[in-house]
Amino acid sequence: MTDIKLVMGEQALPCIKCGKQLPNFSPDTDNQPCGGTEFWTYGHYGSAVTDLSGTKHFVCVCDDCLRTALDLGHAAAVPLRGRPAVPLRGRPDDHGFY
Ligand SMILES: [Zn+2]
Repeated sequence: MTDIKLVMGEQALPCIKCGKQLPNFSPDTDNQPCGGTEFWTYGHYGSAVTDLSGTKHFVCVCDDCLRTALDLGHAAAVPLRGRPAVPLRGRPDDHGFY
C-alpha cells in the first residue's frame, strides 16, 4: 500500500484550534509545520466524520494550543515505552530550546 502524501508547499495546514497559519518546514515536505504538530487518521470508530470515509484526514495543532490543551487536561501525553518522560519544551521559562 502506498502511503498518502499531502504536499503543502510553503505553508502547512493552519492550526485546527486557533487558525494560526503554520509555515511548512520545507516546501517539498508534506505538511510538516514549524511551531506545531501534524496529526492524521484513516478513520475512527465512533466518529460520524471519519469512520468508514475511505479518506485520510490531516490536522495541525500549533504548539501554543497543544500546550494549553495539555495544561487543561483536554489532551493527554503519556511516555513512550522504554523512554523517560521529559518536561514539555518551548515554555516561556525554557531558555534553551526555542
Ligand atoms: Zn493554535
